[in-house]
Amino acid sequence: MKILVIEDERQLSEVLAALLKQNLHEADAVYTGPDGEDCAMTGVYDAIILDVMLPGKNGIEVLRSLRSKGNSTPILLLTAKSEVEDRIKGLDAGADDYLTKPFAAGELLARLRAITRRGSEFIGDELRAGNTVLDRNTHELGGERGAVKLAAKEYQVMDILLSNCRQIIPKERFVEKIWGFDSDAEYNSIEVYVSFVRKKLAAIGSNLQIKSVRNVGYCLEVPEC
Ligand code: CA
Repeated sequence: MKILVIEDERQLSEVLAALLKQNLHEADAVYTGPDGEDCAMTGVYDAIILDVMLPGKNGIEVLRSLRSKGNSTPILLLTAKSEVEDRIKGLDAGADDYLTKPFAAGELLARLRAITRRGSEFIGDELRAGNTVLDRNTHELGGERGAVKLAAKEYQVMDILLSNCRQIIPKERFVEKIWGFDSDAEYNSIEVYVSFVRKKLAAIGSNLQIKSVRNVGYCLEVPEC
């Protein structure tokens, strides 16, 4: 994996880079918030290790800015023990996980593995998981036995599921994203669209499954590679 390390403490940055390289990752190091943000926006990284206390722009601001620009690279936030508030702010701002300094090398590597094990990936305008591809331009869903075009709301359902593979997504989140906060769309509208999408997944021979989580929402199951 190619990993961006945004940490201004040179010694720690060097230790991190050496550790990543020993474990056969590529690592680039930058030392300020703005440099980190610029590098992250290139989109070439599989994961980012982001310190909270940084010169120029702090880690939480960098994180917010990246997420608001649509950057979804998995981010592991580094915080000091005393920064409880920052950890909460960080997770709310879209960090995938955090690690408290000082930390053990093994734990850092394990957390990096966990946050990058999402099960789906963007390649150009395509979102892929398992044997299935969603084209974000044409709204075509492709699998082993062919492709079908999704209707607008089916596409949105599939896009939310694929962007959050293996996570339980509450029904409210679908309603908010598809119909907006003030909508009076009912939860059974979601059920209807999910059932349409399930039929299409089956029709194209997809190995993805939309599991219902009783009284909560849905989870897209992706087979392990
Ligand atoms: Ca720092």
